[in-house]
Amino acid sequence: MRCHYTYTEEGEKVLIPCCAGTAFNGDIRYCTCHSEIKAYDRFEKDEFNRILSEKDAQIRELKHEVAYYNRQLKKVLEKRLKRKIR
Ligand SMILES: [Zn+2]
Repeated sequence: MRCHYTYTEEGEKVLIPCCAGTAFNGDIRYCTCHSEIKAYDRFEKDEFNRILSEKDAQIRELKHEVAYYNRQLKKVLEKRLKRKIR
């Protein structure tokens, strides 16, 4: 539930605070109900994307490393093969 107004039987407008922003200030303009949720969602998404791109970078690095070692292995095997032929 978010901060909202309700009306008494006499028609008096009453503020119902649901977050600290409104509760401390007594003013719905300081409401953070929606933005807190949105900020948290955004935080999770940003964090997820950050970790994902970090892992992508690690994978790229490891692929380069594997390619390098495969070339080294191929060179060694070719040298050994040439020695056997002679
Ligand atoms: Zn609020």
